[in-house]
Amino acid sequence: MFDVIAFDADDTLWHNESIFTMTQEKFREMLSSHGPEVVDQTLSSTQIKNLKLFGYGIKGFILSMIETSIELTDGEINGNEIQQILDFGREMLAAPIELLPDVQEVIDELSKQYRLLLITKGDLIDQEAKIARSGLVDYFTAVEIVSDKNPQTYKKILLRHKIDDSRFMMVGNSMRSDIVPVVQIGGHAVHIPYDTTWDHEQNHTYIDPANYTQIKSIGLLPKLIEEK
Ligand SMILES: [Mg+2]
Repeated sequence: MFDVIAFDADDTLWHNESIFTMTQEKFREMLSSHGPEVVDQTLSSTQIKNLKLFGYGIKGFILSMIETSIELTDGEINGNEIQQILDFGREMLAAPIELLPDVQEVIDELSKQYRLLLITKGDLIDQEAKIARSGLVDYFTAVEIVSDKNPQTYKKILLRHKIDDSRFMMVGNSMRSDIVPVVQIGGHAVHIPYDTTWDHEQNHTYIDPANYTQIKSIGLLPKLIEEK
């Protein structure tokens, strides 16, 4: 029934949001005199405001933390504290890749029967480095690193790889990026929720749950594909 199975990377194949959550905790501590809720809210609105300029990824997150710290301290933040924020970012960029359970086995198994694509958004350099470090790159026919995931992005990818939309399956953790746009163009989508999802990714157009499948973990994917 399918020619191509495409996977999201962050929080679908490996842990990612947890790295952001941990950094945000440190950032909150650094600005503790302003109260955790205020820090979280200011950072979140700054990030969303900056998305169009900086795109998704760690570099944009670092800039948004710096901007938030300037705003909350009325410009009193000092160079050492900004250095600390830059160091948070360096640590994030160097964080080891930790695959989610069963990922290696499932990708290996499916790669024997299907063309696999990796479709991820974010910083080009960071995403390329993570894919290389994941040890999974050889399983994928192609890797697509895009600035955003919307119906047009997916249409272009399908066109480029000559894939029929009805024979395309996308697997990912984000309703907004991996599921809704794929269903909108007539593809199949499998949602595998991650423990924590950034609020922005939760915010999406409603689609009928009959149009996609949700499973608890990637280990259940081969059986689901077999039954389709
Ligand atoms: Mg993801």
